[in-house]
Formats: sequence, C-alpha cells, structure tokens
Amino acid sequence: MTTFLNNYLNGQWQPAGRAVHTLSDPVTGDALATTGGAADGLAEGFAFARTAGAQALQALSYGQRAAMLTDAMKLMQSKRDDYYAISLANSGTTKADSGIDVDGGLFTLGYYAKLGAALGDAKSLTDGAAAIMSKDQLFQSQHLMVPAKGLALFINAFNFPSWGLWEKAAPALLSGVPVVVKPATVTAWLTHQMVKDVIDAGILPPGALSIVCGSSAGLLDALTPFDVLSFTGSADTAATIRSHRAVARDSVRVNIEADSLNVSILGDDAAPGTPAFDLFVENLARDITIKSGQRCTAPRRALVPRVYLHAVGEAVAGKLAAIRVGNPRHPDTGMGSLVSRAQYDSVQEGLALLKGEASVLFDGSAQPLLDADGRSACVGPTLLAVRDADAATRVHSHEVFGPVSSLIGYRDAAHAADIADRGLGSLVASVYSADNSLLANFAHALAGSHGRVHLVSPEVGKTQTGHGNVMPASIHGGPGRAGGGEELGGLRALAFYHRKSAVQGPAAALDALKQGTTAYSY
Ligand code: NAP
Repeated sequence: MTTFLNNYLNGQWQPAGRAVHTLSDPVTGDALATTGGAADGLAEGFAFARTAGAQALQALSYGQRAAMLTDAMKLMQSKRDDYYAISLANSGTTKADSGIDVDGGLFTLGYYAKLGAALGDAKSLTDGAAAIMSKDQLFQSQHLMVPAKGLALFINAFNFPSWGLWEKAAPALLSGVPVVVKPATVTAWLTHQMVKDVIDAGILPPGALSIVCGSSAGLLDALTPFDVLSFTGSADTAATIRSHRAVARDSVRVNIEADSLNVSILGDDAAPGTPAFDLFVENLARDITIKSGQRCTAPRRALVPRVYLHAVGEAVAGKLAAIRVGNPRHPDTGMGSLVSRAQYDSVQEGLALLKGEASVLFDGSAQPLLDADGRSACVGPTLLAVRDADAATRVHSHEVFGPVSSLIGYRDAAHAADIADRGLGSLVASVYSADNSLLANFAHALAGSHGRVHLVSPEVGKTQTGHGNVMPASIHGGPGRAGGGEELGGLRALAFYHRKSAVQGPAAALDALKQGTTAYSY
C-alpha cells in the first residue's frame, strides 16, 4: 500500500485522486508513494493564500512569525527519524547524506527564527536613513520595505526535498509572505510529510503554507503580478519559466537557481605533501561523493597546477577507491544511490560526452556494489582528466549531476581564473592554499563570476564549512548559467519577499511612518 501525496490548497487537504506518478526506492525499485496529475483548484487555492494566509501572517510581527518558525523546527526535530526513513527509501542516501538535507533544512529554519526574533515587534522595515529633498529640510524621502502582497511559489529540485523547502520558506514566512511549494515529483514524499506535519500541528495560520505535488501544469498560469516565484532546477526548465507570461509580462519577481559548473582550485604553492594539498584532495573526494554528487554546488571541475596533475589524480583516486558504493542500508556503504534510474541514465550520457575530451583516471563502476545490483540507480564515482585545458568545451558547459569531476591542469593563476570563467557563471569556487595573498587574489578574480568564493588554508582546515555546503549566513546563487539568483545571506534573503517603496513627504509624517518599523540592516 503506497501513500498518495495529496495537495493542500485553500486550507484543505484534497482527497486522493487517480495515481499518475509513482515514487520509487532507487535501490530496490519498490513503489513508495504516488501523486496525481494536474492540480485542481489552483486559482482558488492561490487566492486563499494571498488573502487569508497573507492577512494572518502580516497581522503578526517579525518576532511572532519567528516564534512560529521555532515551533515548526522543534516539531520537525521530534520527527527526524521519520524523515530520515523517507530520505533513505526515496532518495537512496546514506544517513550522513540524509542529514545534509533533513538537518540542513531544520538548521536553516532555526537560523531564521533567531534572526527574526531580533527584529522584534516590527511589522515592516526601513531601508537606510531618510534623505533630505528640500532646502528647508522638511520634505524627505524614506525607503520602506513591506511584505510582498502576493504569495511565494517555490518550484523545487529533486535533490533537496527538505532543505530546498525550508531555505526558501523560512525567509518567506518570516517576511509574512504565504508559501506554495511544488516539490520535484521524484522525491516529493519528504516535502509532503514535513508540510503535513506542520499543517496538522496548526503552527501556521490557514493559507500560510500550501503544497502541490505531481504536476507543474497550471502553476505559473495561476500567478498574479504581486506574487514572487523561486525556482530551483535545470537551466532548461528555468528558460521555460522565464518565458512564461507571468514573468515576461506580469513582472512576477523570479529567482532562479540552476545548473552550475563549480570549480575547486589548488593553489600553486600547495605541492604534494603540504597540508593545503592534503586538504584539497580530501575535500574534493568528499564533495564529489556527498549525496552521490547530486548537489548543485559539487565541484564539477578541479583546477590544479599542471605540474601536480598526476599527484592529485593519484591521491583523489585513492580516496575514491576507499568509498564503498551501494545500498545505504548496508553499514559499510559510504555512498548511496542516485535518485532514480532516469538520473542514472543522464549521468551515463553525460560521462560519455565528457570522455570525448577527457581520460578516465578513476572509474568507480568497476567496483562491486554493496547489497545492490545493476537494476539500482547506484553509480560509482568517476574522476576524469581533461586532455587539453584550452581546447575543451563540454567540461565547461555540461553538468553531469552525479559523482563525477574533471581535473584540469592550469599554467598560472590568470589561466586558472580564465578556465573557471568558462563555466559562464557558477555557484561556488573554492581555493586551497597556505598563501593568504594568493587566496585573496583569487577571490578578487572569481567573485564576479561566482556567487560564493570559499577560501581554505591549513589554518581553517578543520573548521571551514565545506565547499559544497550552503550556510544560511552566506548568499547562495550565482550569475549567468547558475541562474542569476540570490538566496539566503542572513537578512539579505528578506529583500526578495518585501516590496521597497520610496515614501516622500513631510519629515514629521516620515517620523510617524517609522513607528512599528525596524531598520533593515545586515
Ligand atoms: P528540473 O527537471 O528542472 O525540475 C525542477 C522542478 O521544476 C521540478 O519541481 C519539476 O517538476 C518542475 N518543472 C518541470 N517542468 C516544469 C515546467 N514546465 N514548469 C514549471 N515547473 C516545471 O530539475 P531537477 O532534475 O529536479 O533538478 C536537477 C537540476 O537542478 C540540476 O541541474 C541542478 O544543478 C539544479 N539544482 C540547482 C540548485 C541551485 O541552487 N542552483 C540546487 C539544486 C539543484 P517535476 O519534478 O514534477 O517534473
């Protein structure tokens, strides 16, 4: 008996309908849950969120909404075991990898609850000081930020059914904006369960949180001009979304988090045997294999001084060889499965493409799987070496969303930065070196094309948060191919869910306006 993932719209759970999509265990192939097809009642459900949901949320202060986030986090913490079980079955991930999604989501929720508590009783925000607009100084301008009048629609990717929801919902709900989430179908179960738990507990007012599972049909048609849309997924779907009437004509504010050919760079001071070299190797192997490489931030390209290419290849291959791949229920499994057979096929196709310009340094598919067979979506890690750094093209344009990375030799720092930029905009670049000037120079060179630059010296080797980990204090998103989006970054995230208006008027009126506001600073 599988669970039907029904929609919650208009403050009601819709009855189970005809099963259209089946969610499966990517290791055993067992059917786990089903969803219906195109959702009914989207227009009414969205209208309910914009009215009842928004009014109830916006009647509260930031501090009161922050308290609701805390309650939701505590409730879900008490149900972590359920979520880990769903993640194991539906995403095929090890416990550690499930933790990145489940606990990462709850951590982010708790982080925003703390930030929101500090905003206290305010119900809107002032941005900057008032500007004097007249000689007598009586006429002034004050930028005011109020919660967006519409709803926030999230269309999410399959790889983070928990974190992908809460990293967006936390700043939206804190801002007072109702949320409708459409999880990727293949892993929608975890998102559905979390939403159900929070709704059933009555933590949020009716209309504040809704969910649509199974089909994206009609979602964008149901948007109106004051809504905001946050999308995470492939560049192809992003292009479809950008060209939709709601975005192209009605100016629905949109944030896109898409594909990314992230880089990890070894500084030329970090010779084999140095601590910086060891950190690079250890972190690269880990970042390739965490969540079987299904992280948008995984380093798809590893740039190393040409002279160290061979040594890096051997060292990383050695680390990858030690990771057993297979059923995450087996105690010795270090890396679980891809999320589906479709994803498996996509990784194989991508690998074949990259092999046209790269040699295989390590092929994890040669190792036997633990407690899984060829019908599963398990795939071993692969390390490639690009034959000609300057002539290669596919490695800079095709994202293989799995445990695959390509080593690329560079001549000097300028060459490395040039290669990094051939990804045409990425989420993250990391640099490993014991030379702080080298790290700073790389940061300047990479910041214009990377949303996050992660610098690692031996001094922070143990405490750094990891190339691939998205921390809520730092912004997430990158220019160009990465979608041009920006999420998180502490209170910066609230800007997307607020409307800014320049209020011009008498100084005394602006003083009155500031009652019930707090300064927006981060
Ligand atoms: P996807 O196929 O683009 O799907 C993403 C979401 O869009 C799913 O919820 C999907 O629903 C929905 N969707 C599909 N077609 C749609 C349409 N015409 N209109 C509206 N929604 C539509 O991406 P994915 O395979 O789930 O995710 C993998 C990709 O996401 C990778 O390329 C990865 O790099 C990227 N990603 C980026 C980030 C980031 O932060 N930059 C984070 C995670 C993942 P269905 O599932 O029902 O089709």
